Amino acid sequence: MTARRADVVVVGAGPAGAATAILLAEHGLDVVVVDRAALPRPKICGEYLSPEAGRLLDRLGVLKALDTAGAVPVAGMRITGPDGTSVVGRYHEVAGWRPYRQHAMGVARETLDGALVERVRGLPLDLREETRVTDLIVKDGQVIGVRAEDRAQAPLEIRARIVVGADGRASVVAQRLGCRQPHTLQRLALVTYVRGLPDCRELGEIFVDPPDYVILNPLAPDRVNLSLVVPLAHATPWSRRFEDFMTARLRQLPHVARRLAGAERIAPIRALGPLAHRVTPPDAGGVLLVGDAGGFFDPFTGEGVFTALRSAELAGETIVHALRAGDVSAPALAVYEQRRREAFRGKERVTRALQVVIGHRRLANLACRALARRPGALDALLGVFGDYVPPRALLAALSGRASRTPR
Ligand SMILES: Cc1cc2nc3c(=O)[nH]c(=O)nc-3n(C[C@H](O)[C@H](O)[C@H](O)COP(=O)(O)OP(=O)(O)OC[C@H]3O[C@@H](n4cnc5c(N)ncnc54)[C@H](O)[C@@H]3O)c2cc1C
Repeated sequence: MTARRADVVVVGAGPAGAATAILLAEHGLDVVVVDRAALPRPKICGEYLSPEAGRLLDRLGVLKALDTAGAVPVAGMRITGPDGTSVVGRYHEVAGWRPYRQHAMGVARETLDGALVERVRGLPLDLREETRVTDLIVKDGQVIGVRAEDRAQAPLEIRARIVVGADGRASVVAQRLGCRQPHTLQRLALVTYVRGLPDCRELGEIFVDPPDYVILNPLAPDRVNLSLVVPLAHATPWSRRFEDFMTARLRQLPHVARRLAGAERIAPIRALGPLAHRVTPPDAGGVLLVGDAGGFFDPFTGEGVFTALRSAELAGETIVHALRAGDVSAPALAVYEQRRREAFRGKERVTRALQVVIGHRRLANLACRALARRPGALDALLGVFGDYVPPRALLAALSGRASRTPR
């Protein structure tokens, strides 16, 4: 058995794990990053990055690399309701809240994850690819390390003062701590790529047609991410024939079918579900959960990567403080969960409310027509989607009240 000691072991090198490691490296900590895959690995995703994700990616030193690699600036979103009402919102200043850049981005996950991993490789961090964490080492209610297997299935033990679970939706760290719970929202996503879509360059497109929704996100001049989200129960009987299921389902959605007429699918369909899961904060000390390992709701509002990066930022600050103070107990690390809750609570409320709206045809139609009459509210909604407008500013815009002064 090989053994290693470190200040921090980060399990998973997706956006959450890579960002945590990069931020910890700034403090000269001895960090081991372990990922079961050869990186970058494929990841099912809508590949939309909110304007505020751009701010965090710049801080991590990868935004320029993404621009150079051809990230598509996405200036706004066209939202089409079940009755065909269509509204366009753009990312710009709302009541003094400014986006980091006046656009979101369409970026292939391979490019995003590749840029983050390249940054990790360029820093004095110990990155172990194709190394799967199989268990935690726990002593007296404190997590003190991980057990893993390298690519030759040789066992490895890494002891660390703090373990960061950044191992995504099926997090071994969260499961081992008994924190992962199923969610009542049961949806499945089918994702592919199309080309030949006229006029799909600078806007993302969302089609709401309950119980489904479809998102188109431009990734290159002739490559558009096409994601269809449906109730899990509708898709499960077709699990061996997702190609047929997706083709038929898209034909049944009249506005989507019209939009896709003449477009050509250029990649196999990939499916993932159920999408949502709940995670309760760990009781044990010595451990933090970041990104999807800490929970995931629904991709409709496209904040998964932003949440991964922002939770990494909060975790990094907590870890540095805890290590300096020499206290990595559960109460010392609880500040991370508090700050995480504060950071995401407002948007979580909006996304939950939106789930009700997009789940009901009549409500979705009413909402689209109301947004068509109130462009200010639409821009505020997009700013909330884009992670730079606080939800209270959306409430103010919906009620017609002026909001706050610029930051
Ligand atoms: C259908 C769909 C569409 C989405 N669309 C968007 C979108 O458009 N925009 C957006 O911002 N977000 C979107 N998301 C969410 C986004 O993909 C996630 O929130 C994001 O990838 C979370 O990053 P992460 O680092 O926490 O997890 P992940 O990206 O899943 O990374 C986890 C890493 O951990 C590694 N790992 C797992 N288990 C182990 C183990 N036992 N040992 C070692 N390593 C391990 C994996 O190999 C992986 O590299 C979407 C999600 C879905 C499901």
